[in-house]
Amino acid sequence: MNLVFLGPPGAGKGTIAKVAKEALGVPHISTGDLFRANIKNETELGKRVKEILASGGLVPDEITIKMVENRLSESDCEKGYILDGFPRTIPQAEALSKMSNVEGVINFVLSEEEIIKRLSGRRMCPSTGRTYHILFNPPKVEGIDDETGEPLIQRDDDKPEAIRHRLELYNEATAPLIDYYKAKDVVLDLICTNDPKETEDNFFALIKDRK
Ligand code: ADP
Ligand code: ADP
Repeated sequence: MNLVFLGPPGAGKGTIAKVAKEALGVPHISTGDLFRANIKNETELGKRVKEILASGGLVPDEITIKMVENRLSESDCEKGYILDGFPRTIPQAEALSKMSNVEGVINFVLSEEEIIKRLSGRRMCPSTGRTYHILFNPPKVEGIDDETGEPLIQRDDDKPEAIRHRLELYNEATAPLIDYYKAKDVVLDLICTNDPKETEDNFFALIKDRK
């Protein structure tokens, strides 16, 4: 099944993707994770996008589309995929339509107030990318990853200045994709509550008939 997760930053896309990929047996492709891995490994791509990510800006379409095209051509995508954080602009969606047939677009629905709470409380394991929330989904030991024991970090772009910028860009560049995909009749609205388990159940109920 070819799925796109569409929603504002901090909506819980990565959190749902981690359980959905196991259940559906498809890879979770997060463009944010791919960019962060390139930055960490100091690749050429990483050097080009480092400042953009830190400020909360969008990486140019050309670079992002090429990266996704390469990833989707790998053999593990033959059974389907979960694309998380791509497309984020209309030109990216147009490019994706030429690469692959999108069967479902999960539209993560929650208020801006909730989004800000989620982003500002998010903490991340630097090596695995696993996320926690200081209030809603805390680690067993404060500040420490449950699996690796590493100290958790706050992403640079989860600090107030970058959060504002990311939300503006979401409203301008990404939200129009909801109507774009509604016109293709593939949008499924996921109501995101503050209970991760309930949100997970809502997700599986939505895709039940589409598996
Ligand atoms: P995204 O991938 O959409 O940016 P994440 O999955 O990283 O979002 O989640 C953002 C933050 O919100 C994380 O700190 C995560 O632990 C927390 N979170 C995720 N889902 C929920 C939920 N249903 N209720 C409360 N907090 C959540
Ligand atoms: P979140 O889900 O919290 O918004 P992501 O991990 O998806 O964060 O993305 C982090 C950053 O990576 C974005 O703020 C942006 O700089 C860059 N990025 C990720 N996906 C895209 C994309 N499709 N187009 C342009 N930039 C992107």
